Amino acid sequence: MRIAVLNETQPDDRRVALIPESVKKLTAAKAAVVVQAGAGLGAGFDDEAYRKAGAEIAADRAAALRDADVLVSFHAPAAETYAQLKAAAVVIGFLRPLDEPQALRPALERKLTTFAVELIPRTTRAQSMDALSSMATAAGYKAVIIAADRAINMFPLLMTAAGTIPPAKVLVLGAGVAGLQAIATAKRLGAQVEAYDVRKAAGEQVKSLGANFLDVDLGGLDAEDKGGYAKELSPEALQRGRELIAKHAKNANVVITTAQVPGRKAPILMDDAAVDGMKPGAIIIDLAGATGGNTTVTKHGEEVDRNGVKIIAPKNAAALLPVDASQMYSRNVTAFLVLLIDKEGNLKIDMNDDIVGPSCVTRDGNVANARVAEVLASTEKNS
Ligand code: NAD
Repeated sequence: MRIAVLNETQPDDRRVALIPESVKKLTAAKAAVVVQAGAGLGAGFDDEAYRKAGAEIAADRAAALRDADVLVSFHAPAAETYAQLKAAAVVIGFLRPLDEPQALRPALERKLTTFAVELIPRTTRAQSMDALSSMATAAGYKAVIIAADRAINMFPLLMTAAGTIPPAKVLVLGAGVAGLQAIATAKRLGAQVEAYDVRKAAGEQVKSLGANFLDVDLGGLDAEDKGGYAKELSPEALQRGRELIAKHAKNANVVITTAQVPGRKAPILMDDAAVDGMKPGAIIIDLAGATGGNTTVTKHGEEVDRNGVKIIAPKNAAALLPVDASQMYSRNVTAFLVLLIDKEGNLKIDMNDDIVGPSCVTRDGNVANARVAEVLASTEKNS
């Protein structure tokens, strides 16, 4: 089985899907790994490091893809990359099957087997493969670092000869993996932190990090589904949250927003009025930009200045930390790849496996995941 790794083509993404440490593991499992020349440079790994780990270096994309059984990447491949893969080849990556299902068309037409790391179940057995948590961890940390850099005040409480400097007030909206990492990072920098989430379980985690939890009365509604994710809220419940947030955002120097509902548009947690209610110089970092953003002002990948309040929505915050993001992703994806390699080093796909089956998006020209099939059908009906 030959596994190919390419240079990520998205601008500003210097991550690499497999690092040399993982190449060693995969070659020990009798798989062959082919890496496009220079693919690891942005994450700090030169071709020599890959060669030493047992990889073959391919001069260009076409050479890396020739005879590849598996392509591992961060982003969904472009149609021309899908076209270069041999029939029945496997693709693994953040394929965004629920957000951009039509991008799967080339994979369906070419009868490729695709696995979306977003669909890997978040079970104990699959914990080492949880790429969503890995990227959310990096993004949550980076959001606070960007905010601290752009903020017009320092984060910690300081007692100086010139008097006391109060700590910065940071409000985190959405206390999942990224939000909790943002809270921990802001606390380490000495900020006073408040956080809001609709899941009651998040409250305990927020408090255990020493932050204040803003509890909203949802009228007894259980906002958590059986997978541990937030459910889409009613307009009334959302509005109650927005009112509480607006009140607290008034005093905040920094707001970090991370709220998402899988397969849906991100909930709007701050409207124009809530942003206008913030102090001049305040910063909002919106990590939900890719799914529409948590404010009405957010522009994905851009920085908006609204009466002195800056709303920054990084295109891909995790990609701004290519070393750690690559290391975590590479380990996640290698743990998954090991499930696809038999004792002789050949590709074997067991769709009955409780991780492999649910994460498969397309196989033999069909959509393998019921939820994706539904979203794809409705997208095509509406287009
Ligand atoms: P996510 O990225 O889908 O959402 C981020 C956060 O936004 C979540 O905490 C969610 O509750 C919150 N949110 C959604 N709508 C909101 C709204 N209207 N207002 C305020 N907040 C809102 O979620 P995630 O960070 O990927 O993880 C979500 C859950 O999955 C957490 O409970 C996490 O602990 C759990 N998880 C479990 C495992 C595991 O191994 N079992 C692994 C990772 C995460």
